[in-house]
Order: sequence, then C-alpha cells, then structure tokens
Amino acid sequence: MNVLVINCGSSSLKYQLINMENEQVMAKGLAERIGIDGSRLKHEIEGRDKVVIEKEMKNHKDALKMVLDALVNEDYGAIKDMSEISAVGHRVVHGGEKFSGSVVITDEVKKALEECIDLAPLHNPPNLMGINACQEILPNVPMVGVFDTAFHQTMPKSSYLYALPYELYEKYGIRRYGFHGTSHKYVSQRAAEILGENIENLKIITCHLGNGASVAAVDGGKSVDTTMGFTPLEGLIMGTRCGDIDPAILPFLMEKENLNASDLSNLMNKKSGILGLTGISSDFRDIEDAAAAGDEKAILGLETYCKKIKKYIGAYMAEMGGVDAIVFTAGIGENSDVVRKEVCKGLERLGIEIDEEKNKVRGQERIISTENSKVKVLIVPTNEELMIARDTAALVK
Ligand code: AMP
Repeated sequence: MNVLVINCGSSSLKYQLINMENEQVMAKGLAERIGIDGSRLKHEIEGRDKVVIEKEMKNHKDALKMVLDALVNEDYGAIKDMSEISAVGHRVVHGGEKFSGSVVITDEVKKALEECIDLAPLHNPPNLMGINACQEILPNVPMVGVFDTAFHQTMPKSSYLYALPYELYEKYGIRRYGFHGTSHKYVSQRAAEILGENIENLKIITCHLGNGASVAAVDGGKSVDTTMGFTPLEGLIMGTRCGDIDPAILPFLMEKENLNASDLSNLMNKKSGILGLTGISSDFRDIEDAAAAGDEKAILGLETYCKKIKKYIGAYMAEMGGVDAIVFTAGIGENSDVVRKEVCKGLERLGIEIDEEKNKVRGQERIISTENSKVKVLIVPTNEELMIARDTAALVK
C-alpha cells in the first residue's frame, strides 16, 4: 500500500509518497511559490538527483497535478500509474475540540474544518485547499486528515484553561490547544521503542525545537500539557515568535507606540523571538556562530532561549511527578549540541546528566545521557510524514 502525504501551506505543497510495506519514502518534494511568479516543483526520488521543474502553478490544484505527473513520470517517477496511490494523508493544523484523533475526510469533516478557520486563519484554509484539490483529481482515493492539535486533546482542563472569564471559553473556544502534536506523538513513541519500554509506564518530556518550538509532557503515552496554547505563539522563545510574555505589555505598546492589533501580531510573530532578542537572525546556525565569535547579544539570546526550555522541563517534571526520558527533536533539537548541553546543564541533581561526547552528533537517533543518568536523554529525529502515513493506512484499511 502506498500513501501520499500532503502538507499544504498558503503558497506551498510538500509531499511524500511512502510504501507502507517497508515504510520507505519512494519520492518526496515541494511545490513552492504557488500563485506567485516563479513557481517551481522540487522532486526527489530516494537515492537519485533532485529534479527542479519550473512551471506556472496558479493554485493548489495545479500544484497537485504537477506532483502527480512527476510521481508517474517515466524518467524520474516512483510509480507507473496513479492507481498505485491507495490513500492520501493530509496534515491539518487545527482540529479544534472536534478531533482528538485522525479521521477519514467526509463532507461533514470538511464542514467542521471550515468551522475551525477562525482558530487558524493562516493554516486551515490552505489545508482545505489541498484536500479539495486532491478530491477533484483523485476522486476515488480515500483521504485522511491528521491534526497538529489532536494529540493534545488528552490534556486535562486544568492544563488547557486560561484564567479568563469562563464564558469566553464557551463562546469562542479560547483555551490552550497545543500544536506539533504529530511530532510529539512520534518522538515519544519512538523513544519508548528505543528504550525498550512500554510507553504506558513512561513519563516523557518531548522538546520540539525548530523554527516553531514547543515542549510537551507525555504521561503514559498521552499529552498532559504543552507549551503552545490558543495559537502557536505561546510558550518557548522561537525563531521570530516571542513565546510567553506578560499580556499587559500589549496595551502598553498599543499606547506608547501607537500600534493596532495587526501591528502587534506582526511584532510578536515575525519580529521577536531569537531574531528580535539578538538582532542577528532567526536561524540558530547564525546565532551559534555569532556566540562562538563572542557576540554578547548572541550569547545572551542563547542563554535566554535555553533557560525557558529548562523552566518548562522543571515545570513538567513537577506536573508529572518525575520524568523518565527527555527527547530532543526538530531542526535545533536534532542538530544543536550547544542547545542540548545548555538546556541540561545544572540538572544533575534532578537525575539528568548528558554525556558530552555522545551529545556531539547531528540528526541521529541516539541516547545522549550518561550510563548513570537516572533520566534518559535522547535525540529522535522527528518524522511527521511517517506518522501521518501510518494513521492514514490504519484508517483506510
Ligand atoms: P525546523 O523548523 O525543524 O526545520 O528547524 C529549523 C531550525 O533548525 C532553524 O533555526 C535552523 O537554524 C536550525 N538548525 C538546522 N540545522 C542546524 C544546525 N546544524 N545547528 C543548529 N541549528 C540548526
């Protein structure tokens, strides 16, 4: 069985075709600049050179047609015929409170997703465009929606309520939802496998540190708390997002700097985070290079970034009554020995001890804690596409 995994952004469409017999990626790629001048498709078959096809793509339907053409192409395709695609799995950012797991997409599901647009105005509309395009071009292929929020639907009310008037939760669904759920689920399950333990017996803290970043507390395989909230802005310091701040800063800035709601949103989402703090870059490689060269703002930025992660690790240890494993994943978590070391520094009395030699690795599955460390610390490269493909295959079987 081959599953096509689709992840649509406003002007992009990422895809992977996965053979579920051996869970190998047969082909993958990215259609970018959809609806913008200079649109192109980057397509790759495992073990072969990347193909770049430049062609106008007016919308997501055009993009999907190009992807399917590439997949069946005689020279650089992965399958002979589209009938070899058994199902399509769609990444959907926001499932609100309606979806606590993946679902086969029906008209009712699409309607429910439209109702969630208010909660994710930037993300859910392109996700829906991708679903509609697929349904038009592959009308007889079953489709599954896999939600970024679903894994966190097990959080107790005490983790997800804000101390605002309760009726605002009832009226608008203002609560914490959490994101990166597919990644937190994948790496926590994989960590349990690597440790040879039943996940039901484990308390795990997963740190997804990429451009967007969040920590989750996973108790017995279920998310019980996470740092992102109503939107992906809450929690950790990110590339350009500020994470937690005192909400009173907003009305203060509105007055002092004469900013409106959209200016504030732009400031907090695009100009803050590690970029805003350092004034250097949102890319951690630049920050690490600058810090190594002695740049004081970069050094302070790294310290501040890591301290926030450390605080949440402490908080989630308290919340779960301990922790058995801490997992690092995503661009920074998988690649930055500097961040992993700084986050774990000084936690020895809590049973967390990193082996500096084992920590010097990029993008590989590995246990990086010392033999004596009570808490296991691991790097697990995330694989959201595989998780989406697994859920899709399980639901359509
Ligand atoms: P993601 O959103 O998971 O793709 O992660 C993107 C982030 O990972 C960016 O901030 C990158 O700078 C960071 N990243 C990627 N490779 C490295 C690396 N070798 N060292 C440090 N950070 C990295």
